[in-house]
Amino acid sequence: MKPRLHVLWNETYCKRCLLCVEVCPVQVLSLERNEITEKEGCIRCYQCERYCPDIAIEVMDEKGKE
Ligand code: SF4
Ligand code: SF4
Repeated sequence: MKPRLHVLWNETYCKRCLLCVEVCPVQVLSLERNEITEKEGCIRCYQCERYCPDIAIEVMDEKGKE
């Protein structure tokens, strides 16, 4: 799992469906050079984790843990 600012992303499980990018209410996720990237502004709503069909993205808590 590759750490981002608030989420962990699994490049092997991810099939680049972009559902997480679409459901994020603050639009901090994007696909850059074939990797899901995250910019500042995540509100930890867990929508990306909930909607990912491949368990490829997990939101970390305030301490940086899953
Ligand atoms: S937890 Fe919510 S705000 Fe943060 S990246 Fe996922 S969908 Fe976006
Ligand atoms: S929803 Fe899951 S599988 Fe789809 S792009 Fe996001 S992390 Fe990858």
